[in-house]
Amino acid sequence: AAPQPDPAASLARRDATFAQVQEHYFAEPPLIERGWRHHLLDTRAQSYLDMVNNVTQLGHGHPRLVEAVRDQWARLNTNSRFHYDELSRFTERLAAIAPEGLDTVFLVNSGSEAVDLALRLAQTHTGRRTILAVKEAYHGWTVGADAVTSSLGDNPRALGTRPDWVRLVSSPNIFHGAHRGVDSAPAYLAELDADLAELDAAGTGVAGYIAEPVFGNAGGVMLPDGYLAGVYERVRARGGVCIADEVQVGYGRMGHYFWGSEQQGVVPDVITVAKAMGNGQPLGAVITRREIAESFAAEGSFFSSAGGSPVSAVVGLTVLDIMRDERLQENAAVVGDHLADRLRALGERHPLVGAVHGLGLYLGVELVRDRETLEPATEEAHLVCDRLLAEGVIVQPTGDYKNVLKIKPPLCITQESADRFADALDLVLATL
Ligand code: PMP
Repeated sequence: AAPQPDPAASLARRDATFAQVQEHYFAEPPLIERGWRHHLLDTRAQSYLDMVNNVTQLGHGHPRLVEAVRDQWARLNTNSRFHYDELSRFTERLAAIAPEGLDTVFLVNSGSEAVDLALRLAQTHTGRRTILAVKEAYHGWTVGADAVTSSLGDNPRALGTRPDWVRLVSSPNIFHGAHRGVDSAPAYLAELDADLAELDAAGTGVAGYIAEPVFGNAGGVMLPDGYLAGVYERVRARGGVCIADEVQVGYGRMGHYFWGSEQQGVVPDVITVAKAMGNGQPLGAVITRREIAESFAAEGSFFSSAGGSPVSAVVGLTVLDIMRDERLQENAAVVGDHLADRLRALGERHPLVGAVHGLGLYLGVELVRDRETLEPATEEAHLVCDRLLAEGVIVQPTGDYKNVLKIKPPLCITQESADRFADALDLVLATL
């Protein structure tokens, strides 16, 4: 076998040529070489429990997916303008699992592209420009997706630099937002009414509203009960389009629901999907109603060279087949509930644990220095992640203050591994 590269030397080579805009996992990241199910192996044969990899829905190295991709690559992969049956089968399948009435699918290659396209659908369908977006959200890096991204954890200047067509509204964060608790929807909706009254008075109207149906970027925080129903009613009363960004929280990860919007009891007009649907292969989709897609078609054409290519379509179909056959959504519900119980129990012994957010295998452990003031424990969160790495567990923080441990392992994780994570976190919290 070839000699293994030195991790530090490899990192220096990467830093010399790879754009240093986004920080990477850990100051001294292990040099990962291999993955299997919910485990990663570095070049020194150290194994890690992968608690954060929300793109690898099925688990790493799934043999059935590898076989399907190998076979499709060998037979055909091409520009998606050609006609091949894999595309028909994949769009049919997505329309069948999408929320009711969402019957038309656009295929792209990432979540950012999906969000960009969703915003354009809202604008062309309504003939208006203004998009409402919640603070503290992340929706992607392209010009459109970045415009509705205001997460301070990603861009500390975000609030002062949004383009004029974006109207930011209060972050509906039930833990540390302006209004707290699951019954805080009326307070957030009253604020929204004031925002809308201003837009009505200015005559700009509303093209659309975008939010994650569970607040993934904030660490899997559930929205207030009835919040999205109230928002959608108000936006639709003005002819606006309601977009649910399901890139992180949708596609079975919530365990008890396939789509995050189900938890809020709403049916969006447009949903964006990516990450999990490709299990790490670049795949994204926008799913909407036919009339909204037709308004967009009247404005021009849509084409993505590799969006929905034969290989991408086969990846997408095989991911859904494996999720069904291995009952991964059910596993997310069972193991996720167990893990949430274990983490909540840790909260009883470690004052740093301010809350455990989320559902299924989308959980967030919010670390605070004081349960009254909710002062974010940012440095502590980084320390916890570094010490967990030494224990062979990979976790990273998220949120405006990077103080929420995001817990989004592959959906194949076992209860034993979930327990191993909770035990390691218990041990590490005791060292702080
Ligand atoms: N929307 C949400 C909610 C996301 O979390 C992300 C990625 N973190 C995106 C969109 C953008 O997806 P991508 O990185 O595939 O462009």
